Amino acid sequence: MDILKILSRGTKKSATQPTIPKPVVKPSNPQLYNDPTRGLKRKRNEEQPSSNQEADDDLEEINFFAPHIAKKPIPEPETRETSKEDASKPLLDDEEVRQVLRSHRLKFTLLSSHERKKSKVKKSKKKEEDKPKEKDGKKQLFPQPMTSFSELRSNYNISTRLGDNLAKQGYRIPTEVQLGSLPLLLQPERAIASSTAKESNFKTKHGVDFLAVAPTGSGKTLAFLIPAINSILRRRAGDAAQKDHILEVVVVAPTRELAHQIVNEGRKLAQGTGVKIVGMKRGMQLPAEGQPDSDSDKEEEGSENDQEAGSSDDDDGDDAEDDKQDNKPQKATTITKTDILVTTPMLLRNFLKSRKLPTVKHLVLDEADVLLDPLFREQTLGIWTACTSDSLRVACWSATMGSNIEGLILEQLKSRESHSSIPLIRLVVGLKDTAVPSINHKLIYTATEQGKLFALRQLLHPSSSDDSMPNMRLPFLVFAQTIDRATALHNELKFDIPVEAGGSSRIAALHSSLSDSARSSIVARFRAGEIWVLITTDLLMRGIDFRGVNGVINYDVPTSAAAYVHRVGRTGRAGHEGGVAVTFYTTEDVAYLKSIANVISLSEKQAGKASEEGIPKWLMDSLPKVGKEEKKKLKKRGVESRRGDKAKITTQSAWERRKENNKRGAIAGSKKRKIQEGVSDTQAVEDGEWGGIDD
Ligand code: ADP
Ligand code: MG
Repeated sequence: MDILKILSRGTKKSATQPTIPKPVVKPSNPQLYNDPTRGLKRKRNEEQPSSNQEADDDLEEINFFAPHIAKKPIPEPETRETSKEDASKPLLDDEEVRQVLRSHRLKFTLLSSHERKKSKVKKSKKKEEDKPKEKDGKKQLFPQPMTSFSELRSNYNISTRLGDNLAKQGYRIPTEVQLGSLPLLLQPERAIASSTAKESNFKTKHGVDFLAVAPTGSGKTLAFLIPAINSILRRRAGDAAQKDHILEVVVVAPTRELAHQIVNEGRKLAQGTGVKIVGMKRGMQLPAEGQPDSDSDKEEEGSENDQEAGSSDDDDGDDAEDDKQDNKPQKATTITKTDILVTTPMLLRNFLKSRKLPTVKHLVLDEADVLLDPLFREQTLGIWTACTSDSLRVACWSATMGSNIEGLILEQLKSRESHSSIPLIRLVVGLKDTAVPSINHKLIYTATEQGKLFALRQLLHPSSSDDSMPNMRLPFLVFAQTIDRATALHNELKFDIPVEAGGSSRIAALHSSLSDSARSSIVARFRAGEIWVLITTDLLMRGIDFRGVNGVINYDVPTSAAAYVHRVGRTGRAGHEGGVAVTFYTTEDVAYLKSIANVISLSEKQAGKASEEGIPKWLMDSLPKVGKEEKKKLKKRGVESRRGDKAKITTQSAWERRKENNKRGAIAGSKKRKIQEGVSDTQAVEDGEWGGIDD
């Protein structure tokens, strides 16, 4: 099929140029978007001539990435930070606010509607006609942004210790999502003008419900952890008697690895504050309503917090703890008291059953779109409804968000009586559902499955004569469609790295059929730089922050556009340049390529790359469209020919393969039995691999 070769050629055009661009952003600056001129532009027509309205809208978004031509630049955050250390800064005026928000590509929208008394409706409608609105008629908001971390102390009154911990870890310049969301979450009354709240008939006194859609690696974790920790410290400061650990914040994340990472980040921030953060474990008992009272309601003297607080990125110690607890469930009488609990949906749901968590004031859904995808929905909503407090505020975070999920969140909030005057505010950073601009994308046509293996070896052992392959620097991640394929690929490649360079210890496979301790040890070794090539499944596609990952290889095509965004988002984190994302595809994949090609195309346009570097429009147009049903099936099951026994990745002889197959027969047999016995999707997901997350 010609189109396949042409597609590869299209994306290879840039291969003659350096494949790893020189960094253009200071590596110490984690911000993706800061175009000071953007804030000065008033009229769309001045930005770019355009033939139709729709294209015009796109260009407006895309132009945020235009080269910086500073006319009247707003001060760099660094300058602001050092010039006026802790002096309280006055509120920015409306025009300044808009300029900062535009410059950093932040868009706030009020998603909830708050009914007025009937007599006032007409009047207010007229008044609101002039106000900026989204295409869907929703109201745009312009809350105060924060321009440096020092403002957290001077203007938002965060605890000194928390501020010190941030500084100690070297956070100096807030990322877009942080500068937009922290004021709103820490002090909504300060961030939103009372006139705005009045106009739309909502209240900010009791906080806001929040939905943030911000790029992968843009610092969402800090953006939800800082307000969480601070809220606990505030409560304690207000009531000296309240030094006990009361479960106030629940953070839900889709995988154990991510939950673990959040616990570690949280402990670094909370060091010395007395705020306790615990990762949920099997068999753990929490103080919940509806469970039998126990005489020995004593706190588990978990050394976890102290042990991990302030420790390095390495999560070895904590993992060891995890395994101990997994192997020996705690006695039912031991109750773990904590301020913040981080959990996967299944672990907490299994504990809760019909129990309630009335003390929880903040529910954080990290990777919210997947948590509310049908695969996890029941568990996540179960946790949500178990948080019965009237003052529960919900914050949802992700790099991708379908409108159906937004709708679900809104419905869920509406169904709670107490929420009629609480606004649901959405923040979108940059363009929704795109990859970060610093990533270099390559689509590589390999014709067949064997071709993929060949191409991967070329990436591992680049020859100077072949300039058609991108230059991949180690370490990198390789994504396969299934556990079987990840295992097979690992077996195939493990002797590819010379013994002198560490041999098979440099390459590993990570997936959910490994034991917890094996999973943790691989993650720790990859973080420590001991493993150079990590072959994995979609288990690792979301949220995981391996700082030094230079490349992502989609050995098998991702099963949705969102899966592409998240997988490739394991590189190019915190503003780092030079990440390469390679996607192999065969004849069988062409039917599913359109949505991925769309993401690449849009992401490259955003990044200001020349159109010929991406995928040409005529080629995009010639890729077949995929129907909704097909998309759903792909998302759920992946490419059919890569499932089960058909999934061969090997150069072994038939005899060797058979031997290998026999060995794995027992595992496969037990898996098949499970499926026949009707193991639900959600259980399979809890086992680690889910099939994607698009609409
Ligand atoms: P996300 O959840 O948006 O994918 P993370 O919260 O995992 O991103 O953060 C990605 C990386 O960026 C982490 O290593 C984190 O320490 C780093 N980071 C976050 N905020 C900042 C900041 N303001 N300055 C520098 N690095 C940051
Ligand atoms: Mg994250």
